Amino acid sequence: MSATRRTGRRETVAKRRAHAGRRVPARRDAKAKLPRAARSRARAGRARRTAAQPRRFLWARSSTEQLLHLRMRDLGVRLEGTWVQKCVEEVYGELARRGIRLRPHVWLSHDWYSPEGVPGVAIPFYLAHPRLMRLERRQMLEVEGGTHEECVKILRHEFGHAIQHAYQLQRRRQWQKLFGHSSQRYPDVYQPNPASRRFVQHLRLYYAQSHPDEDFAETFAVWLQPRAIWRKRYAGWPALRKLEYVDALMEEIRQRRPDVRTRRRVDPLGRITRTLREHYDEKREQYSVSYPDIYDRDLKRLFSDLPRHRRFERASRFLRRNRTEIRRLVSRWTGEYQFTLEQVMRDMIGRCHELKFRAVGSERRLKMDFAVLLTVKTMHSLYSRRSGIAL
Ligand SMILES: [Zn+2]
Repeated sequence: MSATRRTGRRETVAKRRAHAGRRVPARRDAKAKLPRAARSRARAGRARRTAAQPRRFLWARSSTEQLLHLRMRDLGVRLEGTWVQKCVEEVYGELARRGIRLRPHVWLSHDWYSPEGVPGVAIPFYLAHPRLMRLERRQMLEVEGGTHEECVKILRHEFGHAIQHAYQLQRRRQWQKLFGHSSQRYPDVYQPNPASRRFVQHLRLYYAQSHPDEDFAETFAVWLQPRAIWRKRYAGWPALRKLEYVDALMEEIRQRRPDVRTRRRVDPLGRITRTLREHYDEKREQYSVSYPDIYDRDLKRLFSDLPRHRRFERASRFLRRNRTEIRRLVSRWTGEYQFTLEQVMRDMIGRCHELKFRAVGSERRLKMDFAVLLTVKTMHSLYSRRSGIAL
């Protein structure tokens, strides 16, 4: 996820929150949920979809402005019957095939995380409804875990945290020797070494390198993947030792009762009294989504901010829509520099969004021109970038 810097931050925030006990007080009196109809209709339609199963919610047709006024607890969305639940079951199946007894409990909350000391996983609410996924994209520029593939990948990672919490794996001497100390603070910024073979690569931006817990979760995720090819993929890498350790460790604990068995849910959606607007204001501030202005001049030559082009497609949207194709075009020439490419692309899209640029003219030409610009800037950035990835 190019939002990996978010991933880290969110986990720090989640942890901090769990510790500080900053919980929204429970209120069981009011009927929070909006009327929901046609539940059975929503169950129809078996096709696998990456959008949530549509149910009827009064707010689903509201404008963004109206939607932002809603309190999160009043959304009334649930995991049951959504495509996300199918992803959860898929990964449960992977645990079962590995003979692992634990099924981490899941619940909807404000973000992805597994709170310290809880063998379960919080899933962000926006995945439970297509309208909320659109809102997320609009507010944050991307939807973390918004495709089946990405969702399953993140779940494997988060289940790794849950299993660590359940069996308190971080207390083991060998675990500490291989991954480090779990109590180590999450850094504000981490500087991964893309060439390092001491870490597996699963989520984007070399996330395993950000913290010992993340290193373990990433290693676990790679180990859990079906059709285990890790022995081959990581042959000759020092990271293989971590994978082999996880393999032996799981063999040892898989049928054991977890030491920590709480089913506690931290910040369940139904108890979050913040409005969506407050939530997004806070989220944007935490992740301090700000993009460098160094590409402004070049982007302005490509896109338009003239009032008469107001009705054209937003350049940020245009780029997101063509992201895969553009990346394919550029990565042919930038090869192993995927990491930098992702960063530069992300900054450019963010800047286009902030400057409200519009995509005007031939789509093909724009794509080509942008690909060239991106290549040049990626190569340039390789030599000039000193900063790490903000967590
Ligand atoms: Zn994690």
